[in-house]
Amino acid sequence: MKPKRKVDEKMADMTLTHEQQKLQALAREFTAKHIIPVASEWDEKGEFHKFILEEVKNIGLHCMAVPKEYGGPGCDSVSQSVVMEQFGYGCCAFATTLGGNGLSSYPLAIAGTDEQKQLYYGRLVAGGMGGFALTEPGAGSDAGSCATTAKLDGDKWVLNGTKCFATTCGVANIMVVFASTDPSKGVKGLSAFIVEKERDGFSVGAVEHKMGIRSSNTVELLLKNVRIPKNHLLGNEGEGMKIAMKTLDMARPIVASMAVGVAQRALDAAVAFAKAYLDVNGKPIGMQQAVSFKLADMAIQVEAARQLVRNALRLKDAGVPYTKEAAIAKTFATDTAMQVSADAVGLMGNYGYSKDSFVEKLMRDAKVTQIYEGTNQVQRIVIAGQLLR
Ligand SMILES: Cc1cc2nc3c(=O)[nH]c(=O)nc-3n(C[C@H](O)[C@H](O)[C@H](O)COP(=O)(O)OP(=O)(O)OC[C@H]3O[C@@H](n4cnc5c(N)ncnc54)[C@H](O)[C@@H]3O)c2cc1C
Repeated sequence: MKPKRKVDEKMADMTLTHEQQKLQALAREFTAKHIIPVASEWDEKGEFHKFILEEVKNIGLHCMAVPKEYGGPGCDSVSQSVVMEQFGYGCCAFATTLGGNGLSSYPLAIAGTDEQKQLYYGRLVAGGMGGFALTEPGAGSDAGSCATTAKLDGDKWVLNGTKCFATTCGVANIMVVFASTDPSKGVKGLSAFIVEKERDGFSVGAVEHKMGIRSSNTVELLLKNVRIPKNHLLGNEGEGMKIAMKTLDMARPIVASMAVGVAQRALDAAVAFAKAYLDVNGKPIGMQQAVSFKLADMAIQVEAARQLVRNALRLKDAGVPYTKEAAIAKTFATDTAMQVSADAVGLMGNYGYSKDSFVEKLMRDAKVTQIYEGTNQVQRIVIAGQLLR
């Protein structure tokens, strides 16, 4: 993909390559034009707006993780992050929705055959949406407790079970679903499958009503004797946990990127408020040292989070281990989004707490980034596990 725009030097991040700067400019312009004007309305209604995904397809950023040989843009990880930060700045729900295409593309990159990639990536490139269904009512952090089963019957796998909190899966065309092919083996019995929404026995259950990212689609999936071809198994039987963990390594810095976007938006809103809002002496409250130091602390956190994300992704793109750095970036950036958005609400007083401001949405949206793709408690288990190996 070749964005034609020139880079605005005042806005450009000079630590990025020129191509990455152009993508950043493209995503920033898209966010300003298509996302920011409607984000509050979507949030209020809690409705999923597919049209924006059609718009994002027009600029070629709807399936950034799909390699060029399969018709995608084949964006490197830092480029994906830079774009997702901009989309997170506009609306974390939209970024989460688009993130589903990335999250569900990664298992294919890890374990997909050429035929499986043709199928899966082909659907995404054509404008379809992808989902990743690992979580179940009794299996969140402990994915090995998965109760969904897959049994081989002739040349078909037969899937039975219930998935929950599956992002975009109510509207997705194709998804990666995890099921146990041998429950007696626990995590070693977990396997990953490609499931298309048209399969008989596949249906969407309850839609979650959420505190934040309200316009993203989060649903329960019901699988009743869903028959899928034998060659829809990703990798080998029993490799599901390995595939899921590698996928989450890839996805965590992307969630962290969205969180940086949320935090940057909160910081920008707080700075604008501090410049415009006058204290009892008629001076902008930003001239009070207590306020200006708070803004400085927020900026330190946002920039540190951004650089931790870039660090993890540069390691990934260099092909070296990055599990610990991905978990560190996810934890720090999402904790930053929560802290900085809460600080922005506090700094803006009753206006910050009101629906008239945008920062209360940022605070509600930030919370989920600490929970999905592994809670920040689980990230600490990952980090400690890497330290103590
Ligand atoms: C909006 C939203 C979208 C989501 N989208 C998806 C999706 O697309 N696909 C998908 O598969 N899942 C998705 N999830 C699920 C998400 O990944 C899980 O919620 C998350 O992994 C935590 O699982 P749980 O909610 O079952 O919490 P639990 O695992 O039940 O944990 C409850 C609490 O206990 C803590 N805890 C658990 N184990 C430990 C431990 N060993 N040590 C210390 N603390 C621990 C947790 O940190 C948490 O605070 C989504 C969730 C949300 C809220």
